Amino acid sequence: MSAIELRDVVKTYPDGTSAVTGIDLTVPDGSFTVLVGPSGCGKSTLLRMVAGLEEITGGEVRIGDTPVNKTAAADRNLAMVFQNYALYPHMTVADNIAFGMRARKVPKPEREKRTREAAEILGLTPFLDRRPANLSGGQRQRVAMGRAIVRSPEAFLMDEPLSNLDAKLRVQMRAEISLIQRRTGTTTLYVTHDQTEAMTMGDQVVVMSKGRIRQVGSPTSLYDAP
Ligand code: ADP
Ligand code: ADP
Repeated sequence: MSAIELRDVVKTYPDGTSAVTGIDLTVPDGSFTVLVGPSGCGKSTLLRMVAGLEEITGGEVRIGDTPVNKTAAADRNLAMVFQNYALYPHMTVADNIAFGMRARKVPKPEREKRTREAAEILGLTPFLDRRPANLSGGQRQRVAMGRAIVRSPEAFLMDEPLSNLDAKLRVQMRAEISLIQRRTGTTTLYVTHDQTEAMTMGDQVVVMSKGRIRQVGSPTSLYDAP
């Protein structure tokens, strides 16, 4: 696990759109940091630059003490969780969780051990032999989390992972993701446009608008702000 540092990060898309400017942010090691702000304020752009899925126009991103501007996404050892967590329909839950480890040639006993541990954390142990079609929406979301956990990444990067779930499940999964984050202690950068989600999940909340950071603090300090 590692802190993530952004120093004076800028992104201008090739069509001239200025997505973010002058972003200075520290995501402390082990923290649950939430980026919150209205649609179009630059949250996804920022997350994708940390992930290495979007080139940065200016500034520097560091993971741990390592500058990663020139590091390919696949070499950053970060685990992304999106809203559209495509699971493989023909594979079991266990194989879906283990898929990335197989691709990276993790030995079979180690794959099985990590899959069992992740399933235990996520309450998926009874469902390891099921296929995604026979799971609830929340269980599918947990499988997507399982894929992220077994990689033992430096950090989790999550972009609106709950936005496709119904309201009741969304509230339940907020608590589950917070719990998983605390249990694994994995540095997490989480993007949402939902203020309640930000305030209930984050231990550091970063408020963005129009491509800039406006406020950074704990949920209580932001509630108390004038
Ligand atoms: P958010 O995640 O907060 O909704 P985004 O990071 O998706 O915001 O977008 C920030 C700004 O950058 C918006 O104005 C958006 O239209 C623009 N943008 C995002 N992706 C691209 C792209 N590939 N090309 C041009 N503009 C983009
Ligand atoms: P979100 O609200 O989750 O940020 P968007 O609808 O803004 O999602 O963006 C979805 C996809 O469309 C992203 O991959 C983004 O790069 C792209 N995109 C967003 N805005 C633009 C734009 N103005 N021009 C080109 N691509 C864009």
